[in-house]
Amino acid sequence: MAVTTEAVNRDRSPPAAPSAHPADSSRILLTLITLLRQADDPTESDADDPYQSLVRPGVLRSLLSALHYRDAATIYHARRVALTCVGIARELGWEDHELRVIELAALLHDIGKIGVPDSILRKPGTLSPDEAELVAQNQCVGLTILQACRLHQDVVTLIAQAARASLAPTDTDAAADRHQGARILSVADMYDSLVHDQSYRQHLSHSAAVTELLESDRQLDRNVIAALRRWLAGGGQSLLGDHQQAVEAVRASAPVDATTVGQASALCNAFAYLYVLESLYDAYYLTDADLKLVVCSTGLARVLPTATFTPGEPWSRRLIGALDAVGRPLPDSAYPLHRVVETSQSHCSVLKLPGDTEQRREIEFHALPLHDANGRLLGVAEIVRDLSHSKKNSVLYKELREAANQDPLTGAANRGQLESRLSELYAEYQQHRCDEPFSVIFLDLDHFKQVNDLHDHAAGDDVLVGLVRLLGDELYSAETLGRYGGEEFLILCPGTPLEQTVQRADRVRRAIQNARLVNSKEIRVTASFGVAEIGPDDTPESVLQRADQALFDAKRGGRNRVCYRIAGDDATAEAETSAPVGELVHTAKFVACQAEDILVAKLKGFVEDHRARLLDVQENLIAMRVGESTIFGRWGSDSRRQPVEMIVVLGDQQVSKRSASMRRIEIDVTVRPVGRAPDPRVFEARACRTVELLRSHLLAD
Ligand code: GH3
Ligand code: MG
Ligand code: MG
Repeated sequence: MAVTTEAVNRDRSPPAAPSAHPADSSRILLTLITLLRQADDPTESDADDPYQSLVRPGVLRSLLSALHYRDAATIYHARRVALTCVGIARELGWEDHELRVIELAALLHDIGKIGVPDSILRKPGTLSPDEAELVAQNQCVGLTILQACRLHQDVVTLIAQAARASLAPTDTDAAADRHQGARILSVADMYDSLVHDQSYRQHLSHSAAVTELLESDRQLDRNVIAALRRWLAGGGQSLLGDHQQAVEAVRASAPVDATTVGQASALCNAFAYLYVLESLYDAYYLTDADLKLVVCSTGLARVLPTATFTPGEPWSRRLIGALDAVGRPLPDSAYPLHRVVETSQSHCSVLKLPGDTEQRREIEFHALPLHDANGRLLGVAEIVRDLSHSKKNSVLYKELREAANQDPLTGAANRGQLESRLSELYAEYQQHRCDEPFSVIFLDLDHFKQVNDLHDHAAGDDVLVGLVRLLGDELYSAETLGRYGGEEFLILCPGTPLEQTVQRADRVRRAIQNARLVNSKEIRVTASFGVAEIGPDDTPESVLQRADQALFDAKRGGRNRVCYRIAGDDATAEAETSAPVGELVHTAKFVACQAEDILVAKLKGFVEDHRARLLDVQENLIAMRVGESTIFGRWGSDSRRQPVEMIVVLGDQQVSKRSASMRRIEIDVTVRPVGRAPDPRVFEARACRTVELLRSHLLAD
């Protein structure tokens, strides 16, 4: 039961705008998926490119641009290390294909640095254990991404082994098993660091650097160091010293135009996001919409040791192999990943897996839909926790889970969360045999594009944040507020029938109209509302659709108003309700010489005497509805019952000239008709009469 924007926006123009917020986690992961698609795209291949079998040129360019964007110095370093590695490998008799493997490995060996913050990247001195852990986790993220980029496995292996060597440099056993390429990479990497200034020490001369390599307690390969010396003496040193050539080489990877810069920055964001997943969960993977694996974290091998997750391969339940209570394999439909595809909502389940012992292992799978701006499902992120011995902190986990359900800009529930809540309300409604109805309110800011155009996008963002803050004050705790799309919000009101919900919406409408949502700027906004109540023949989608049609009615009717639609009555339910209609408005002003509390008591008396309904009470403002509207909003012909909305604003108190104990208070009254627009003369007569009633009530002793 996917509730998509397309379905809901069918009748409305213009459609809901996508969130423009760059930190939306779905969007970050989608950038990654897009990049990785290039790795599979046959049109991206170039038969003349000798590196073709190792990596797609577009993917390599994107990776190097991201590294360059993050830290240009790292790219210079990577280029020099690549040159040195190839030089050493040639000395050792390596040939074409292998030379290209080591060159690529050297170019990309620091890819994990993309996610490392500057404070650590440029830290003088040694790293604290926490910082070292962070660097190590970013290496894992780097390897995960390289794997997903379909980089040739030999290249990934060299980088992984060299990374392990730099994390445990004195481990002799590991050193013995290391591929010669990884040993070359370690030597070249360290040599380049030694002969260049670092934040923690000055550079060494070539010969001092070689001596340092020979004396290092790191398990460096002496054969490799000897080859390095030969290469340096045979012309390598001057190659490395050719600054101009290095600049030219590096220029090739610099992000030049705005698009490349955008892509590079998006890739850096993706690194940061995967780092969060890497550090908080035991494992994770991403699939595209066809459930083909795109990114698989290195942790999967620990949690699911018997399965091989390979980017490019289709996901299958056999990879996980969960069992039901009597030990039979679970069907596809029991897996959260499949439920996401069916419902477009996030799902979380604990599945039991066969373990080494009698006891089954419990693994939690939390699958999150990745939507594009139009609400189309483009992929799924699944995060995995081994409940029997999760390495992860449960508080952090809870926070992240909450974050996954939140709109990052405003902190309101996001669309996935709204849809889950709507399904819950719907299930409860069905369980109680439709006895406990709920209602939904669509809210869309009016002419919001103008706010962005007149001020700027950041001011527009501030308005959205301010709006959510205001709505938080206005709504009851049982109600759920969420951002449905750009400047469109959905409010779910459990246990609230239509009429009451229309009143709630109108109260909120008034609050928005009177509010200043951004402290630092004078920006006023209004909003239009569409309300619908669930009915016995409804589905969650149909009730949303009805509310959306009502919202469209409100927009068409002139905005800043609340409209509703009744189930099964679509043809005649265009009625507008409590919102004031069009431009008909009557204003009056008079002065009362009374203490303010007496005035307020008298206003209360007026409300009671005239069976008026209070709509809003603020410090100096009272809004009420006088008269009665029919459900279809006809205005009626009885001038004592015609419905009007009256807003009474009390001005500042001033000491009366006549008596120091008296206060002079200016009273502003605004009257508007409620419901279908009446004849202006009829309205004027009704408004004058109502103001007169109020004036005589307030001024009477
Ligand atoms: P209408 O009264 O018909 O709803 O007019 P509108 O201008 O509000 O509607 P439209 O759908 O044409 O434009 C919505 C605008 O909302 C366009 C987009 O720039 C803006 N918007 C959407 N999401 C965000 C956001 O996250 N931040 C900011 N600042 N603006 C956003
Ligand atoms: Mg809109
Ligand atoms: Mg709008």
